Amino acid sequence: MNTVVLKFGGTSVADNIKLNVVAEKVISLKEEAKNVVVVVSAQGKTTNQLIKEAQELSAIPEEREMDMLLSTGEQVTASKLSILLNRMGYPAISLTGWQAGIKTNSIYTSAKIEQINISRIEEELGKGNIVVVTGFQGLDEKQNITTLGRGGSDTTAVALQVALKADKCYIFSDVDGIYSADPNMITMAKRLDEISFDEMQEVADSGARVLHNRCIQMGKKFECDIVSKSTFSDEGGTKICPKIETSEVKSIVKNDKLVTIQMEREEPIKKEEVYDVYQSLLQNNIIVETFQKAKCYLQFRIKKEEQNKVQELLEKNYPIYEITQKDLVKLSIVGYGITQDSQVLHEVINILKEYQIEILNVNLTQAKIEVLVNKMEDNMLAELHQRLIKNS
Ligand code: ASP
Ligand code: MG
Repeated sequence: MNTVVLKFGGTSVADNIKLNVVAEKVISLKEEAKNVVVVVSAQGKTTNQLIKEAQELSAIPEEREMDMLLSTGEQVTASKLSILLNRMGYPAISLTGWQAGIKTNSIYTSAKIEQINISRIEEELGKGNIVVVTGFQGLDEKQNITTLGRGGSDTTAVALQVALKADKCYIFSDVDGIYSADPNMITMAKRLDEISFDEMQEVADSGARVLHNRCIQMGKKFECDIVSKSTFSDEGGTKICPKIETSEVKSIVKNDKLVTIQMEREEPIKKEEVYDVYQSLLQNNIIVETFQKAKCYLQFRIKKEEQNKVQELLEKNYPIYEITQKDLVKLSIVGYGITQDSQVLHEVINILKEYQIEILNVNLTQAKIEVLVNKMEDNMLAELHQRLIKNS
């Protein structure tokens, strides 16, 4: 192999002992490939901790300052890993996102990579260095530091794979691949050998924190070879493939990190007001999953982590509305072609009926059945898993 990109997640680099395991892994892959580029996340729960500390200073810190703050986490990991690799006799150099030429737009906390100037990385590879790049970050036009959104180091890795035309990208983490459900929740969840980009996209979009959704979009577009593997074992792994023809349920994801916001008032809402509300959500970079208008209320779905920001925005700009928030659970059943016939959907409805769970909304795509409910216990999830996943 000529060039590989290796990405290590936060748990894999959490402390010095783990960094040693990572360094060994990097070295073993350096024996196989001429050029090795490593992308790292912040150590352990560093990013969460930094967010917490900022929120102790201000309930809603400026997003630009958050990017400045959060980008430091990855810098710590990259330098430590380089120090270690050098000591072990493998020349290495750490580069921040901006030193690595990663240019983004200016949407702080969820910036998109626009361009990568690979000259510095190439120069360092040319000198025989292992290049360790901080994940999750870049620089905008005005030289401000930006970050790519939680979990964004995966996207840095795949973006570098594309820019460097690397043969392979390994996404290393503490799990040995992609599972049919969250193995922390469902003990009988099984590891998948392969999953298609379309299915993986649905899994990532449904809120499973396995791979950053934007890295899948990019991987699909550029037909990348991506493998999800464990840092701590050579066994297992899941390959993300262009297409798989079999139609079966691959994965079940429960996302309870969502809220529905309702804005209500007595007078009917005019269409101009709907444009206005929607546009102000967009201007504030709120990701709105669904939006609905009734005569006297507007209802939309957002991520729980944005609920304070949205509440403040609405109270400030739309004081005449009464604003209520409700927790929501989204169940996603993923498998290419499973909505071609009604068999899987039938079974899902049966189980919901047995557990007397009220259905709020159902949405079907080519690779997913999505059901919205108010609550769902883990035992019901286990039952769904057992009845819908083959050989489970
Ligand atoms: N450190 C960032 C996060 O925790 C980015 C990443 O790990 O990919 O979200
Ligand atoms: Mg991650």
